Amino acid sequence: MDLQTAQAILNKIKAYDTIIIHRHMRPDPDALGSQVGLAEILRASFPEKQIYQVGKTVDHLEYLATMQEIADEVYQDSLVIVTDTANAPRISDERYHLGKELIKIDHHPNDEPYGDLVYVDTTASSCSEIICDFYQQLADELTMTTEAARLLYAGIVGDTGRFLYPATTAKTLRMASFLREFDFDATLLNRQLSQISLAVSKLVGYVYQNLKIDENGAACCYLSQAILQQYGVDDSMTAHLVPLPGEIDQVQAWALFVEQPEGYYRVRLRSKTKPINEIAKRHYGGGHPLASGANAYSLEEAQEIYQEIKDVLKNSHKE
Ligand code: AMP
Repeated sequence: MDLQTAQAILNKIKAYDTIIIHRHMRPDPDALGSQVGLAEILRASFPEKQIYQVGKTVDHLEYLATMQEIADEVYQDSLVIVTDTANAPRISDERYHLGKELIKIDHHPNDEPYGDLVYVDTTASSCSEIICDFYQQLADELTMTTEAARLLYAGIVGDTGRFLYPATTAKTLRMASFLREFDFDATLLNRQLSQISLAVSKLVGYVYQNLKIDENGAACCYLSQAILQQYGVDDSMTAHLVPLPGEIDQVQAWALFVEQPEGYYRVRLRSKTKPINEIAKRHYGGGHPLASGANAYSLEEAQEIYQEIKDVLKNSHKE
């Protein structure tokens, strides 16, 4: 982020007494880290302002942060900031448009530039990295706290798969190093981020056992409601399963189809090198080139998505 952009965002913040920060539905550590990390920085920097973090709370990430409940009236004359969310329909708590002005801060492809001020950096590993960058540009005017550092660090660790994914850059590591200087319990945090329940550990075995892999490395696994119930796991606990197929040498791109209680499938797409986000966009989704999400409204549509992954790898094989 350049100084001019950081100043433009800060000027908006300075102009409002009430600032409400949102993020995407089904939050992950980066959604919460960037949202509440920013909220903590602003609370410490501007104690006279009212700063709120809103959206649906997710039980298993309560060690990171919990949300606040606010009345509709609070939005009057407020500034709303949305972090880590590419499309407006995915913003958690649809009241985001009730504020006077809206700022989008994100690292996904800017498919929907909603907001009066939009800052998107697709080269950032995570939205938490962007918030840390924003702070560093304006360090003489803003205050970083230990709690903000803990949250932003969690967001970076979460979205980079512990500094493993290709979006991890030298800058990511510099930001993480800066945050790590603060006095939070990083050992505990890392454990919390990577810990799984015994039920999920058993489902890990199911995923490895039932993964379908074609000759070009296109892989998929279906998690039906019956299987989820049998293992005592719900959708919100499946995040740890998503990277697993990528650990297998011959797998190049993969989809995890998680059946929802309503009957449709949540699709989680990943790839080692070939972009798969165009597939996601064709099926009510989107995301990063190598990490996207979509929805399939029938088993046939799920099969189509798997076929599209196979086609991407088959065609690239010919190149
Ligand atoms: P997930 O598999 O849910 O971890 O999502 C991977 C990436 O795809 C994240 O960066 C999400 O923001 C994005 N994504 C997931 N689901 C959707 C969706 N329905 N629409 C747009 N983007 C999505």
